[in-house]
Amino acid sequence: MSQPLVLNTVADLRRRLTLWSGARETVALVPTMGALHAGHASLAKAARARADRCIVSIFVNPTQFAANEDFGSYPRSFASDLEQLGLEGVDAVFAPDATQMYPAGFATTISLKGPAEAGLEDKFRPTHFAGVATVVAKLLIQAMPDLAVFGEKDFQQLAVVRRLVRDLDLPVQIQGAPTLREADGLAMSSRNVYLSAEERRTAPLLHRVLSAMATQIASGASADEALAHGREEIEQGGFALDYLDLRDADSLGPVQAGRAARLLVAARIGRTRLIDNIAVSFDRGEET
Ligand code: AMP
Repeated sequence: MSQPLVLNTVADLRRRLTLWSGARETVALVPTMGALHAGHASLAKAARARADRCIVSIFVNPTQFAANEDFGSYPRSFASDLEQLGLEGVDAVFAPDATQMYPAGFATTISLKGPAEAGLEDKFRPTHFAGVATVVAKLLIQAMPDLAVFGEKDFQQLAVVRRLVRDLDLPVQIQGAPTLREADGLAMSSRNVYLSAEERRTAPLLHRVLSAMATQIASGASADEALAHGREEIEQGGFALDYLDLRDADSLGPVQAGRAARLLVAARIGRTRLIDNIAVSFDRGEET
């Protein structure tokens, strides 16, 4: 299995894209921050299944981290990321450095409303989505892919990106991909390496609580009661809860009768902040 081509500049990326578009090949992009795990690999698989060429970008985007967050210590493992992407048959890795993405004098950010103001992640990370939207818009414009794949793991991010692409008429299809989990239900995340052995044993509680709540609500239990009980269980389990809420799956606003709903959670354990979510179907029981 050959290693993907590594492209470090927008000029190199565009030269390669010109060759591919000349051969009438379609392109899928998977934006990541590296420290790849099987969840990222599943996004690359989904991308490869839908396009002739697959590019994975690896860029730890400074503008989506607040000053008190883990930008400096965010796990970085470029060599093993490349190896993993080679096994997935990824064609190219776009790995720009910060000056390539934010040259001196950079002065533009994207300002957001709608799903970016849902009162979920945005309430606890008020500058996060402006950074995400700016870097995603740049990556989409740099790579001009036919398709870009994003994980449902970051459910509010996926909603923000869908809205961004619609609002700015970016000619790209956004594909959501399901969350990959460890055997005990913990959603895979690059930040799981921060968990101590004891925290790692506690962490699957989040998915257990979400799954049980989704089943209860789907079979007619009061959402308010399920939420109150779920919040208590998470806090008693040793987490500091940022939010646990049931929202409309598209707008992330209040749930509406007859429409898809989503349970979303963010909670801190030790120095690690975990997020997760699950679909709630009112007529067919729980989904993942
Ligand atoms: P990140 O590197 O954390 O920025 O994530 C890059 C992409 O991978 C995002 O679209 C994430 O939603 C997605 N992703 C992260 N974790 C998972 C997972 N466990 N399963 C599926 N996709 C994921």
